Order: sequence, then structure tokens, then C-alpha cells
Amino acid sequence: MDMFEQPASALPYFCPNCRSNRVKFSLIAGVKQRIRKDAATGAILARDDAEFARMEEPTVQCEVCSFIGNEQRFIKQAQREPLPKPPQVVYKR
Ligand SMILES: [Zn+2]
Repeated sequence: MDMFEQPASALPYFCPNCRSNRVKFSLIAGVKQRIRKDAATGAILARDDAEFARMEEPTVQCEVCSFIGNEQRFIKQAQREPLPKPPQVVYKR
């Protein structure tokens, strides 16, 4: 099987379920394997090598709470609740 190269966004993720994880995620992809069957008996006559099924949008799993959702849910949550910015020190004279 080829190296796993599921495309993933460079935008920040934030788990919409536990809302504590912005760092540890897994990308999940389906595997596709072409087969040929005997039409009458259903026996599998041939199998190709398995390959990763290309998906429009990656599926993401939070490694903290195991929640699984499509990538947009993680991106949208990160946009709704961006990381708090560190306080800016303003020098006034
Ligand atoms: Zn989570």
C-alpha cells in the first residue's frame, strides 16, 4: 500500500466535543481493494492490492476523547474559539 498521504488542511483544529484538544489528532481514511467475483457463486476470484480511497474531506479523530468527525467540524470550532492571544504589553510614555 502507498504511503498515507491524505490531504489535510493547514488551518488550526479544535475538537468540538471535548474542547480541550488543539494538537493531537489522527487522520482516518478508507481503504479500497478491487475484487472480481464469480457471478453465480459469489466466490472472490481476484483481488488487487489495497489502496487508500481518496476522500473529498479528511475524517479526523480527536486523540483525547476519540470523537470522530469530518475535518470542517474541527476547523469551524477552531474558528469559533480561536486560541486566546497572549496579552500584549503596550509601553506608554
Ligand atoms: Zn476531543
